[in-house]
Amino acid sequence: MLLSNSGYMLYILDRIIDIIYFFLFFQQRNRKSKQTTLQSCLKSIKGEKVFPIDAEYTSDIIDANTRVTFKPAVIIYVANINDIQISVKCATKLQTGIIARSGGHSYEKYSTGGRDGVIVVDVTNLNGISINSKKKTAVIGAGNRLGPIYYNLSQKGFLIPAGSCPSIGIAGHALGGGYGFYGRKFGLASDNIISIDMINAEGNLTTANAKQNSDLFFALRGAGGGSYGIVTSITFKLSPIPEIVTSFIFDYNISNVQQVFDAVHKFGAKLTKDVTFAVVISSTEFQLLGTYLGNNQSARETMQDITTSTNPSAQFIEESFFESVVRWSYVSVDAVRDPFYNSSSFKAKSFFVKLPGLSKAGIQSITNFIQNQPCSSFAMFDLFGGGAVNSIAPNATAFVHRDELYGIQLYSTLTGQVDVCLNNLKSFGVEFQKNYTSQFSYQNYIDRDLVGWKHKYYGSNFRRLVNIKSKYDPENLFSFPQSIPVKEN
Ligand SMILES: Cc1cc2nc3c(=O)[nH]c(=O)nc-3n(C[C@H](O)[C@H](O)[C@H](O)COP(=O)(O)OP(=O)(O)OC[C@H]3O[C@@H](n4cnc5c(N)ncnc54)[C@H](O)[C@@H]3O)c2cc1C
Repeated sequence: MLLSNSGYMLYILDRIIDIIYFFLFFQQRNRKSKQTTLQSCLKSIKGEKVFPIDAEYTSDIIDANTRVTFKPAVIIYVANINDIQISVKCATKLQTGIIARSGGHSYEKYSTGGRDGVIVVDVTNLNGISINSKKKTAVIGAGNRLGPIYYNLSQKGFLIPAGSCPSIGIAGHALGGGYGFYGRKFGLASDNIISIDMINAEGNLTTANAKQNSDLFFALRGAGGGSYGIVTSITFKLSPIPEIVTSFIFDYNISNVQQVFDAVHKFGAKLTKDVTFAVVISSTEFQLLGTYLGNNQSARETMQDITTSTNPSAQFIEESFFESVVRWSYVSVDAVRDPFYNSSSFKAKSFFVKLPGLSKAGIQSITNFIQNQPCSSFAMFDLFGGGAVNSIAPNATAFVHRDELYGIQLYSTLTGQVDVCLNNLKSFGVEFQKNYTSQFSYQNYIDRDLVGWKHKYYGSNFRRLVNIKSKYDPENLFSFPQSIPVKEN
């Protein structure tokens, strides 16, 4: 029987609907059966497992940055090392990706996989801190956040240097570097690591230190976030906290921007290591913020060259070490001891600048950018020059950035004209790096759009990192969009 034109169209439409229906049906069945297989493989895990069907799933995939979202196959709040071993074995068996999450601050949400369908091993419950005051060491569980670490160590008279945001996880942070307000004196968090325990791609507990698996030890101190295995604990060398510190805040008018950078370029790298500071240009403020490890009087004398030549409205505040930690966290003391996320949608770019510092045109260019960007933005210039980070050879650990005067983080909070802000940031970042800065960026401010990231994050260490990856994880089990690959290209 011949069908009329419209009858024929209806017939075709009907068949298309059937095909779509069957496709969705099989896809769902496939998904369900994959989930059942995964559930049964993970059944002996002691920690809590959160699957996409669970009520907590939606909130549990929200981390520090809400700009990106990935949908993991499961989030496992591992209770112990054995849980990680089971997770790794299941990921291998079922050929599912697997990734570690510590504090969830990855700028690109790589700790939820950087793609959908991955097993997330959340190490929050591995939160022991064991301090050996005699040896001046601490074994810190990979699930600890910086706030409680600063608090617990300082209670016993010790510190490790690290960043200022209390909710950052120690593992993601220290495995990529970790710089903060005590960094010119004590270096990076990663520079203070003595030993690392990690579950490798075979599901075995491995120790990396100067004597055991020293190649892995090299890689984990700067390129360790997510690429080589799941770190369970890190042993740090401790430093005694100073008896007193002086925090200082210099306020300027943005019209003095060149004058302030002239002083930073001239005096910054010559300052005693007891000083660490950052210059911050935001849409509303222009400040130099820092810490001096000593009393108020010495702080004023130490900073005199800069204050005399820039004439700020200056405050010097003498306080305890932990009070300064709380100050630079910009949250309450309770929120330092027991941190929580302050999630927002953001995007950032990272640059490094060598001596003699940015040119006048470079300073003007970044200042103009911040003032004209429609989203609230800031640039933070962290002084490295003359400090402990620069006294280590670039090939001693995977952290290659050892010859920089300062690192710059350019950060936009994405509200309002989000696409315009993102595009502006992207194109500005490319031009600014090409014209004014060194060709490097900080791997802890990871940026999926960064062209040439292998060189920019790891420089001359990259080839060595690839070789180590191919030795310890030849099947590339631990992978995400900017993980260390098993082959150079
Ligand atoms: C608000 C904010 C403030 C910041 N301030 C600073 C600062 O002052 N100084 C500074 O240096 N950096 C700073 N950072 C950057 C921060 O150091 C990085 O984002 C860091 O990677 C976060 O670690 P995390 O454990 O919290 O994040 P996660 O997202 O959990 O992890 C980051 C990466 O490390 C991997 N990883 C996590 N846990 C493990 C593990 N157990 N084993 C192996 N790999 C693991 C993840 O897979 C991921 O690839 C800041 C970030 C934010 C969002």
